[in-house]
Amino acid sequence: MKYLDEYRDPVLARRLLDELRATATRPWRIMEVCGGQTHTLVRQGIDELLPAGMRMIHGPGCPVCVTPLETLDRAVVIAARPGVILTSFGDMLRVPGTRTDLLSLRARGADVRVVYAPMDAVRLASAHPDRQVVFLAVGFETTAPANAMAVLHAARLGLPNFTMLVSHVLVPPAMTALLQDPACEVQAFLAAGHVCAVMGWREYEPIAAHYRVPIVVTGFEPLDLLEGILMAVAQLEAGRYEVENQYARAVRRTGNTAAQDAVRRVFRVTDRSWRGIGHLPSSGLELAQEYSRFDAARRFRVDGLRPAEDAECIAGAVLTGAKLPTDCPAYGTRCTPRHPLGAPMVSSEGTCAAFHAAGRTRTRSTT
Ligand code: SF4
Repeated sequence: MKYLDEYRDPVLARRLLDELRATATRPWRIMEVCGGQTHTLVRQGIDELLPAGMRMIHGPGCPVCVTPLETLDRAVVIAARPGVILTSFGDMLRVPGTRTDLLSLRARGADVRVVYAPMDAVRLASAHPDRQVVFLAVGFETTAPANAMAVLHAARLGLPNFTMLVSHVLVPPAMTALLQDPACEVQAFLAAGHVCAVMGWREYEPIAAHYRVPIVVTGFEPLDLLEGILMAVAQLEAGRYEVENQYARAVRRTGNTAAQDAVRRVFRVTDRSWRGIGHLPSSGLELAQEYSRFDAARRFRVDGLRPAEDAECIAGAVLTGAKLPTDCPAYGTRCTPRHPLGAPMVSSEGTCAAFHAAGRTRTRSTT
């Protein structure tokens, strides 16, 4: 535990908080983009220790939460077909679809399997040539390289029975969409360290300059977040709008160029609908033409889907930071981790799950 202890040192945390209180002269609003960062902030109570009036706005960086309902409904229909093995990361199995979720479908006999890496799905396809193996490929820029490698490997093996249901999303277009909303309160961003470990931060520089918002690439431990917040506040107080890197132990400006090359080979940028947020141009990835034979949406034509969100769930407002989970009338009563109505209560990166795990009950509207 040596390294984790170092990034959770309470003495250093108090020192950073003191410095933050001495630096902040205004009630700044800062968005942490990533759901993993939200969980650390809420679990450690960091958001409640900030200087008076200063507020963290929890962002849309939960991949499970923003995966369109239509994709999930399509996965359910495909998984129910004879001869199909549908594979997915575990988080997706309990996300409510319009009629059911993948876990319930598995209980009724469908072959739905949890895998820990997309390459596991390729191995399954290789081991079961008589079955169609589909991998549910969701996530941000972090998961795209491994998914790209799986497609490249399946192509090398000449596997005819492996496909992916792709629903990748990209962070910078979501940040831009948030900033273009006239109701947006965000004055600075903590960018997700793991996304930037892959992509670097060059694509954030024009956003910081154009919208005059500081962006600090930040890690996930308590001291990372406190330092990232302090760096963002220091910029705001000085009237600077730059991209800075708090997560220097993992991130370089250019990112991981080998991973980027694999993603560019296999995927191309496309428009994407984000669950709870809406349609964002050029905000996702789909398989490039050369690899379209691995596209499950093409191989398994699924028509007649009518996705319908739960009427009570305010996940869209939670994902854009307009509302807190505790503003939702179903929070903690009709919607719990055992019986979720929406994706943010399911995922290990969901804001509603973070609030529930921390026992948050206070109701405070942010609008
Ligand atoms: S508490 Fe449940 S119903 Fe309310 S916004 Fe969160 S996921 Fe949706």
